[in-house]
Amino acid sequence: MKLTIGHLYPDLMNLYSDCGNIICLVRRCQWRGIEVEVKEVSPDILFMGGGQDRQQKIVAEDFKKGRGEEIKEFIENGGVGLFICGAYQLMGKFYRPAEGPDLEGLGVFDIETYHFGKKKPRCIGNIVVDWQGKTLVGFENHGGRTYLGDKVKTLGKVLYGHGNNSEDGTEGAVYKNAFGTYLHGALLPKNPHLADHLIELTLKNKYGPDVKLPPLDDTLEWQAHNAVLRKLKLSLRSFK
Ligand code: GLN
Repeated sequence: MKLTIGHLYPDLMNLYSDCGNIICLVRRCQWRGIEVEVKEVSPDILFMGGGQDRQQKIVAEDFKKGRGEEIKEFIENGGVGLFICGAYQLMGKFYRPAEGPDLEGLGVFDIETYHFGKKKPRCIGNIVVDWQGKTLVGFENHGGRTYLGDKVKTLGKVLYGHGNNSEDGTEGAVYKNAFGTYLHGALLPKNPHLADHLIELTLKNKYGPDVKLPPLDDTLEWQAHNAVLRKLKLSLRSFK
């Protein structure tokens, strides 16, 4: 089996080692003998990291030159994608920075993001989310606060930290096989269950519903995950 990962704007959108998610996906495929390649054309799975307002402005402009339509079509056709923070915001209807005009998003997610400037503090720190009864751990740093419409599901419930807007306890968004989240870290190395969920969804898209991922020894990954929970004095409700 072989997978091609499309890494969008790697030079512009890569905060807090978000590219670690690409390395994680590549290694977890290779450890299973799944051939994998990272490039930017006709991918099986899309990834885009976070970025400061300035980079987001450049990307939002580039979306209008056609790349945006490609991404929307990919997601509408059930393509798998992971979008972190600034990328997540640009997958929504718009991002309203503290200063300057709105950045038009792709509208893949029925969300709106507002940066209230000095009126509301940045959402910074460790974060723990309840995802399907399991925990996700990560780090967040965003000024924008995101509000979900009714045509999108939240990724999970905030157990610790701010999440989408530090008000309604939601974190991230899911639409078809597209996942948006504020969790940096990088996210996937400390959350192998989510990494495998994305890999399995992608393999099922490409090779059919019977694909099953052989388990890996994730001792180190869960030690890193549980170390965050212990540091935050939160119960170890995850796998191990
Ligand atoms: N610039 C956006 C904000 O501040 C996204 C930041 C990020 O990707 N970490 O909300």
